[in-house]
Amino acid sequence: MTRPSPPETIGELQLRQDQKTGEGVFKCPEDQLPLDYAKIYPDPELEQQILALPIRCIHSEEGCRWTGQMMQLQGHFSTCAFNVIPCPNRCSIKLTRRDLPDHLQHDCPKRKVKCEFCGSEFTGEAYENHQGICPQESVYCENKCGARMMRRLLSQHSLAECPKRTQPCKYCGKEFVFDTIQNHQYHCPRFPVACPNQCGTPNIAREDLANHVKENCGSALILCPFKDAGCKHRCPKLAIGRHLEDTTKSHLTMMCSLVGRQRQEILELRREMEELSVSNDGVLIWKLSDYSRKLQEAKLRNNHEFFSPPFYTHRYGYKLQVSAFLNGNGSGEGSHLSIYIRVLPGEYDNLLEWPFSYKVTFSIMDQSDPSLSKPQHITETFNPDPNWKNFQKPCSTRNSLDESTLGFGYPKFISHEEIKKRNYVRDNSIFLKASIEIPQKIMA
Ligand SMILES: [Zn+2]
Ligand SMILES: [Zn+2]
Ligand SMILES: [Zn+2]
Ligand SMILES: [Zn+2]
Ligand SMILES: [Zn+2]
Ligand SMILES: [Zn+2]
Ligand SMILES: [Zn+2]
Repeated sequence: MTRPSPPETIGELQLRQDQKTGEGVFKCPEDQLPLDYAKIYPDPELEQQILALPIRCIHSEEGCRWTGQMMQLQGHFSTCAFNVIPCPNRCSIKLTRRDLPDHLQHDCPKRKVKCEFCGSEFTGEAYENHQGICPQESVYCENKCGARMMRRLLSQHSLAECPKRTQPCKYCGKEFVFDTIQNHQYHCPRFPVACPNQCGTPNIAREDLANHVKENCGSALILCPFKDAGCKHRCPKLAIGRHLEDTTKSHLTMMCSLVGRQRQEILELRREMEELSVSNDGVLIWKLSDYSRKLQEAKLRNNHEFFSPPFYTHRYGYKLQVSAFLNGNGSGEGSHLSIYIRVLPGEYDNLLEWPFSYKVTFSIMDQSDPSLSKPQHITETFNPDPNWKNFQKPCSTRNSLDESTLGFGYPKFISHEEIKKRNYVRDNSIFLKASIEIPQKIMA
């Protein structure tokens, strides 16, 4: 026992006790021989010497710098910063004396804390729950409107006062930040607006206004339905019936002149269309269908003349027309088919040479099947005499039925007997053909 430091001393003593034999006999730690109890006795003098030995604190390795006599160790423990003690608040935590102030101040669940905002006293545990909900704490509005207030006022603020709170538009139901809602309502499609015609219809949503004015508004001005005929009257929808009743006569007059103008237009269009559909290769093949009925008609009405569509001798050439008397004309009346050709006023007359002097050929076509027998068309040809009036330049104002425009042709072109032969009439139709021989150089 030369240099015992207290922990070793205590450790060795415990070891000895463990070495106690089964019979309760202690052995000497030096030589392992059983101790003779008769030779063991207290030695107060030695004890005093041991207790006066200088030692270090058992917490020296953790950092305690205390040294002193062994007998002072217990006393030192009551102030040693490294000694482990239970929390005086009985929170069940043990810690070094050094860590205690921090624990008592910040961590101890049983510590006493006073809320800086409401002044209430809490244990540490309860304070942690209180933090963040103290009604007296001053906080910023969560909507970032910049307002700061005690937490207990916040819900009222967010609900009714905050300029950044969201709120549904009471017309369209969409959500808006409160301070933009007024601006929205200048555009809100469901915002109620007044009818510009002051018809008194309440609550017309902005998006329905155009339709209202167009379809439903009794005060909207509308145009008279006779506007296309020229009536300029304009009045509220409700009054239009009255206008129609009061102005029947003038509306009819307007309609009359409109119809006149349109008839004129139609005639013009028809003329243009005919002009466009006129053939211009100097050949006319004219089908007269329904022959027997037409012959009958010609017999009943003296000198009834059928007219072919007009045709041009060539592009930009003379405009001609063929006519036929199915029951004959002049010397052929009652016995023959007569055929004539006449010059009509044409678009290019001023560019042409007059009188018309080209060779004309008339045919009635034999419609026999060429594979069975050679068709035998009946043909007549003539060269206009420059002295004949018929082929002078026509006056454009002349009516085509005028006597002076009578064509030139053959009163006895084919007799009624002859026409029944072969296939001149087939399927109750005849084909008359006129062709004009124009020299190539003129067509160019
Ligand atoms: Zn210590
Ligand atoms: Zn504690
Ligand atoms: Zn509080
Ligand atoms: Zn706010
Ligand atoms: Zn809205
Ligand atoms: Zn209205
Ligand atoms: Zn009118």
